[in-house]
Amino acid sequence: MPGFERFGEQEKKEVQDVLDSGVLMRYGFDGMRNDHWKAKELEAAIATRMECKHAQLVSSGTAALTIALASAGIGAGDEVIIPTFTFVASFEAILALGAVPILVDVDDTLTLDPIAVTQAITKNTKVVMPVHMCGSMANLRALKVLCEKHGLLLLEDACQAIGGSYEGKPLGSYGDLGCFSFDYVKTITCGEGGALITNNEKYYTNADHYSDHGHDHLGQDRGAESHPFLGYNYRISELNAAVGLAQIRRLDDFLSIQERNYAILRTALEPIDGIKFRTVPEGGVENYSFLSFFLPDETRAKAAQKALSEAGIDGCFYWFDNNWHYYRKWDHLTGLKSLGNLPQEVKDRLPDYSKADFSKSDHWVGRTISCLIKLNWTESEVQDRAKTMAAVLQKLV
Ligand SMILES: *Cc1c(COP(=O)(O)O)cnc(C)c1O
Repeated sequence: MPGFERFGEQEKKEVQDVLDSGVLMRYGFDGMRNDHWKAKELEAAIATRMECKHAQLVSSGTAALTIALASAGIGAGDEVIIPTFTFVASFEAILALGAVPILVDVDDTLTLDPIAVTQAITKNTKVVMPVHMCGSMANLRALKVLCEKHGLLLLEDACQAIGGSYEGKPLGSYGDLGCFSFDYVKTITCGEGGALITNNEKYYTNADHYSDHGHDHLGQDRGAESHPFLGYNYRISELNAAVGLAQIRRLDDFLSIQERNYAILRTALEPIDGIKFRTVPEGGVENYSFLSFFLPDETRAKAAQKALSEAGIDGCFYWFDNNWHYYRKWDHLTGLKSLGNLPQEVKDRLPDYSKADFSKSDHWVGRTISCLIKLNWTESEVQDRAKTMAAVLQKLV
């Protein structure tokens, strides 16, 4: 997955442009900047590649999620449905706005189970946020139907699945809003950065203002701009945007390398009885950043991760025991351990997750292994890796 593996001259050139002009800020300084608008250019490139009207580039994926929610008017006490298997950023963004994260089971897609989502909808529900973990997507059609029926917003967290698609649409563009992360370990990176995309004019304008202290960005004098509503600073710097600009031009090359490497590994594991691959919903195309598969049970999944690692196969994750990606280790959320006082709505409405039954999620995540697909492997390295993995796993099942 990581685009940093392929840093080169293109990234250096874009960054050098910014250093040469000395304008490190994305707004203003028109006379000094030598016509370099890296953030704006990257936004245009994202919108084009994602077949969407608007893209707003910001300082991180977490910021993108926060702004996406804020741009649609989500605030204190609103409930946002997220999966039990995700990254902590999902509930951080929700809590930042005083809204309430509602955890819901995942199924064999390793993303939101539409049936569990239906059961979690209340009069306070405003948003369904599927998270396309490890390169593949939720059953977006089913979720869209649900959202339309209940008047809810569909917000796709595509931070780990940029370049994948569903029913011919780039991931992130299928819902009302979509988010990407360009942090250092993502498929393409800015060092730090993120973006949201939407076809909704109003959400876009809100996002543009909100991410820059409420600036309306009208006229030529930044100091004289007005502030129609309260905002915050989630700006990205031109230096970070410059790196991303070089990287997005390489996205499709990265995806094809990932697809080749993924295919070699998958072909080697396919004949093994007892190994099943994660379900990709009909109409979905992965971005091939991970190969995720199920062992017959939890015990063998744990043993598989250990055995793979002992055989020198790095980058295979057992998410069930992971501190950052699975609800079982989120005691800071469950116990509402915050530095300061949290909004009353959050305290009142957050379910007691220490008593929740997520056995359906446990069933799938407990037997999942996900292996990171790297860009810098040579074809023969992948072949060797595939052989070793197949031999190790064959012995276990
Ligand atoms: C990386 C990631 C984020 C957050 O992105 P940052 O840029 O690191 O803030 C959010 N959601 C998912 C699924 C991610 O993998």
